[in-house]
Amino acid sequence: MEDTMADGQPVADCLFCKIVAGDIPAAVVRQTEDTVAFKDINPQADIHDLVVPRAHYANAAELAANAPELSAALLVEAGEVAKAEGIADDGYRVVFNTGAHAGQTVFHVHAHVLGGDFLSTFGN
Ligand code: IMP
Repeated sequence: MEDTMADGQPVADCLFCKIVAGDIPAAVVRQTEDTVAFKDINPQADIHDLVVPRAHYANAAELAANAPELSAALLVEAGEVAKAEGIADDGYRVVFNTGAHAGQTVFHVHAHVLGGDFLSTFGN
């Protein structure tokens, strides 16, 4: 995946920019100065939240290349969301689908935070 230059400015037709702006409702779990966490509308686990930066970057690679401190803040916040949801001690998964072949459908970077029960694992 190519890392493109990006400045984090909102994108008019971006679903998650609209959620960040409050123009589309979401079940918000936590908010910080830099991030918003909300329930996934189509959960794939007992707990399935999305954590997005308020700034628009298309995917994890673009975020890391252009705003490494915000990348770190997003990971820290994924952990805080897991604590708030009560899944931090038992374990949880953080996933960044990056690009079409990985199944990314919304091109505003988001961490999936999944947990609440045993999750299927790779290869077993
Ligand atoms: P991706 O496939 O990694 O891009 O994940 C996009 C996620 O956004 C999917 O898990 C969708 O269920 C979720 N999603 C799509 N629209 C909404 C919404 O309006 N609110 C909350 N989650 C959404």
